[in-house]
Amino acid sequence: MDHQPFEDWLLNAETLDPRQREELNAHLQGCRACSALSAVDHALQTARQVEPRRGFVNRFQLRLAGNKQGLRRRNALGFALLTLSISGLLTAAALPLLRSVVQSPVDLAASWLSGLAGLWASIQALFHAGTVLLRVAPGFVPVYIWAILLFGLTGWSVAWVYSLMRYTRIAQGA
Ligand SMILES: [Zn+2]
Repeated sequence: MDHQPFEDWLLNAETLDPRQREELNAHLQGCRACSALSAVDHALQTARQVEPRRGFVNRFQLRLAGNKQGLRRRNALGFALLTLSISGLLTAAALPLLRSVVQSPVDLAASWLSGLAGLWASIQALFHAGTVLLRVAPGFVPVYIWAILLFGLTGWSVAWVYSLMRYTRIAQGA
């Protein structure tokens, strides 16, 4: 069966005059392929003419905006709760210190100062003990131990300088 020109007419959606329409209808009666094509074409045209209901886009955008607003509100609430809980925790942790500062700033300063003074005193005591030890020790310690110590110290220094030079050279890529 020859499907032309009916196939072209259907595919190109050509405007037909009455005589052509009659011929097409006669062909469609006897041709299943072209009547199927025509049915598909008809379905496509109908689908193309179906548009979204009026205001669909507006309603969609409104709903989207509403969702966003709700999300933003939830986020703000979560942030506020988090801030409150964190500041509450911080306040609870710092409360004893704050209270002591507010109640007796002088006492606190005094205790800090006495702590500092104590630290300074112990440093001085250590230093004093060290100097005394250094002054007294040579008398007790035999000379050869000092020699060994000096020798060891020198060797250690040389090794340290040597390894430092090597590492520097490695670092420089030589
Ligand atoms: Zn046909």
